[in-house]
Amino acid sequence: MIMSRGIEFNTSPNPMKTLAHKQSDAQPVSWAPVYQALREAIISHQIPPGTKLPEDELSSIYSVGRALIRPALQALAHDKLVRLEPNRGAFVAQPSKQEAREIFEARALIEPKVAALAAQVATPAAIKELRLHLEHEHSATQAHDDGAAIKLSAGFHMAIADIAAHSIFASYVYDLLSRSSLIVALYWKRRDATCESHAHHALVEAIANHKPDDAANLMRSHLVDLLSGLDLELVSKQDRTLSDMLRK
Ligand SMILES: [Zn+2]
Repeated sequence: MIMSRGIEFNTSPNPMKTLAHKQSDAQPVSWAPVYQALREAIISHQIPPGTKLPEDELSSIYSVGRALIRPALQALAHDKLVRLEPNRGAFVAQPSKQEAREIFEARALIEPKVAALAAQVATPAAIKELRLHLEHEHSATQAHDDGAAIKLSAGFHMAIADIAAHSIFASYVYDLLSRSSLIVALYWKRRDATCESHAHHALVEAIANHKPDDAANLMRSHLVDLLSGLDLELVSKQDRTLSDMLRK
């Protein structure tokens, strides 16, 4: 059994509530609300890739001490959503266009094969599980929970790799997906670009009906769609201050 190595997007329960009560002395002070608020701002494109994240500015925007900003930035760096540069500070991560293209090219090579394998060997229990996963994805999209939607979309592709039960392919898929999730989070230009649920639905049907060729073709075109749904030209806008962006 391969454990998920995707980006860990959701780590703290109801952190926005804690942030709202941050002025209260009775409330335990934590960096988690700042982490959560910044993470949402990055994933929702309130602050674009490449934006500088000065500690003092964040400290005044969120009305917390810099001691709480630093660990939040470090946690975001651990998620690869933020890049920390010695003597220069923190920036929203900005994977290059070439890196994005290469990751999707590699996925387009491996994942159709993996989907075909899954269609050959899927058990009724595995198919049931896959359908359940699809329902969770749908709920996250309906709830406009972008972070959860991206994570579940990646999880769907990992689940197919698990079903295919080819350990080498699976380890490549897991690695590519965690890097791919970051690119989707940073560069998606429309909500349905995570993974359109009808594409996933068609994939489940092909796997459930044990049609390896269909599954491979559906996966290939799904990955092409996914790449075309990203806006890799998205660049840092210099005309707005960080606090303008975060208070949007
Ligand atoms: Zn997908």
